[in-house]
Amino acid sequence: MRSLYLNGAWTPSASSGAIDVIDPATEEVVDAVPAGEASDVDRAVEAAGAAFPSWSALPYTERCAHLARALELLQERAGGVAETIATDIGAPLKFAQKVQTGFPLLMFRTFLEIVEVHGERLFAGEKAGEGESLVVREPYGVVGAITPWNYPLHQIVLKAVPALAAGNTVVLKPTEVAPLAAYALTEVLHDAGLPAGVFNLVSGTGPVVGEAVAAHPRVDMVSFTGSGRAGKRVSEVAAATVKRVALELGGKSANVILPDADLSSAVNNGVADVMRNTGQSCDALSRMLVPREHYDEAVRTAAEAARKYAPGAPFEEGVRMGPVVSAAQRERVRDYIEIGVKEGARLVTGGTQAPEGRDRGFFVRPTVFADVDSGMRIAQEEIFGPVLALIAYDTEDDAVRIANDTDYGLSGAVWSADPDRALAVARRLRTGQVKINGAGVEPRLPFGGYRRSGVGREWGLHGIEEFCEVKGIQR
Ligand code: NAD
Repeated sequence: MRSLYLNGAWTPSASSGAIDVIDPATEEVVDAVPAGEASDVDRAVEAAGAAFPSWSALPYTERCAHLARALELLQERAGGVAETIATDIGAPLKFAQKVQTGFPLLMFRTFLEIVEVHGERLFAGEKAGEGESLVVREPYGVVGAITPWNYPLHQIVLKAVPALAAGNTVVLKPTEVAPLAAYALTEVLHDAGLPAGVFNLVSGTGPVVGEAVAAHPRVDMVSFTGSGRAGKRVSEVAAATVKRVALELGGKSANVILPDADLSSAVNNGVADVMRNTGQSCDALSRMLVPREHYDEAVRTAAEAARKYAPGAPFEEGVRMGPVVSAAQRERVRDYIEIGVKEGARLVTGGTQAPEGRDRGFFVRPTVFADVDSGMRIAQEEIFGPVLALIAYDTEDDAVRIANDTDYGLSGAVWSADPDRALAVARRLRTGQVKINGAGVEPRLPFGGYRRSGVGREWGLHGIEEFCEVKGIQR
C-alpha cells in the first residue's frame, strides 16, 4: 500500500483503511492507497502552514526555479507516467501520452513562461490610480486542492503549479478513483527538492478527506474540480470558515453548426470531441445543434463516425476509445441511454449492451441519439460518457436559445464558413469558452464556467491570479 506525503516525507496514514485502485480495462486491482482521515489532513495542513512563511518569502523566480526542476523531471518520466494513467483510467496509450500527459506538461511550461513575463508586475506590484499607489498580488496561504479522475494529472497541475508559483503551499486530495498520477507528480516534486511542507498529499474519499480539507480553519482557499454535487458540498462546508472557494464543475456544452458550415467536418469533429476520453471530459460537446435542413445528413454522418470508435483496451494497437473509468460510471452511462430511449429520443447507434467481445472491463458503446428535444434529461444532464445528442433547430436565434437552455455554461463550439458570423454567435453563448471551427486548444486562454459550471478560472494568466489575494497599497 502507498503512503501519504506529509512535510516532505512518505508517511503512513493514521487510518489502516485502504482504497483499491482498479484497472478499468481488466477490472483487476493494481494498487492501493490509504483511506486517509481527518487527523491526516490536520497534519498536512500543519506542515503546509509551517512551510508558508519561508516559501512565500522566496522571490518568485526562486519558486519557479524549483518548479522548473520538477517540470524537467516530469518530462523525463513522461513515458512511465502515461502508462500509469492508461492503467489507472483506461485511456488508450497514445491518448495517455499525447493528451493525458503531454497536455499537463504543456500547461506546466506555459504557467512558468507566463510568470516569467508577468511575475514582476503581479508580485512586486503595478502602479494604479494617482501618485505611487500599488496593486500587489499575494498568496492566500494554504491552498486545499481537490481533484477528479478524468484528466488526473492535468487537473492537479492546473492547481498546484500556479498556486505554488504564487507562493501558496498546497494540500492535495486527489481522486480516490484514479490516484496514481497524483503519486507520480508528488514523487517528481519530492525528487526536485521542493522544501518540506510546501506540497502535501492526503489520499482518501471525498466525504472524509475532501470535506476535512474544505472545512479546515487553516486552509485559506479551496480549489475544487469535480461534480456539481460535490462542489456544492465543498462550498457549504467551506462557508463556516469563510474562505475563498474556486469550483470547476460539469458541463453540457453545445456544438452549434450553422447552415453555411462544412457539415462533414463539423459533424466528424464534433463526434471526435464527444468520444475523446470516452466522453469523460467536462467540456465535451455533448449536444450537437444542426439546422433542420441538414439534420438527416448530420445524423447519418454522426452515426457513421461514432461506429469507428470501437472500444478497446489501452495497450491494444490502434485503439481510439478505452473503457469508462469505473463500474459506477458504466452504470451511469447505461442508465442515461435507457432514459434517452424512454424519453422518446431515437437511438441511432450504440446502446446499453456491452460492446462485442468486451464482457470484462467497463466498456460502453459509442452512442448517438437523434430527435432529441432540449427539455429531455439527456439534453440537460451531464452523462460523462460517449453519448451524443443531436438537436434540430430552425433559425440562428433558435440555435442560440437552445445552446443556452441549460443550467451549465462551461464550453461550446460554433461552425460557420463566415468567421464574423461565427464570432457573433460565439459572443452570444453563455459559456466560459467557445471554439470556432474546430480551433485547437490554446493553453493561455482562461478556462472555467458560467452559472452552474463553476466559480473562477483556471489556465493561463487568469489561472495564476486565481491563486492570489489582491492588495491595494496607497502611498
Ligand atoms: P466527483 O465530484 O465525484 O469527485 C471529484 C473530487 O471531489 C474527488 O477527489 C472526490 O473524492 C471529491 N469529493 C467527492 N465528494 C466530496 C465531498 N463531499 N467533499 C469534498 N470532496 C468531495 O467528480 P468526478 O466523478 O471525480 O469527476 C467528474 C466530474 O468532474 C464531472 O462532473 C466533470 O464535469 C467534472 N470536471 C470538471 C472540470 C472543469 O474544469 N470544469 C474538469 C474535469 C472534471
